[in-house]
Amino acid sequence: MEQPQRHPARLDPHRPHLPRRPSWRCRVCPDLDWPCPSARLLLAVEYRRNLAGLAVYMGQQMATALEDLGRLDSGGPPDGNALYERFITWIQRKRELPLS
Ligand SMILES: [Zn+2]
Repeated sequence: MEQPQRHPARLDPHRPHLPRRPSWRCRVCPDLDWPCPSARLLLAVEYRRNLAGLAVYMGQQMATALEDLGRLDSGGPPDGNALYERFITWIQRKRELPLS
């Protein structure tokens, strides 16, 4: 017997996986920092022929996140290295995956 899909709305275009500011959690996945795995997948597909554009876009997002997170009362400045890992390094890793 087939189980009903538990999260059919995860990739619903009407619920885009965009960041909620200033927390930078995903709007669809409130437990996950943005970019969540779904956001990364969608971005990798959208920018599959323009990785430089993706790097520029993610760099801009990272700069905005640094500002936002720096203003939050979270007990210290944001960890720049962690943000670099979170926003930038996955782009390189994604290139190693087949995009067929
Ligand atoms: Zn998400």
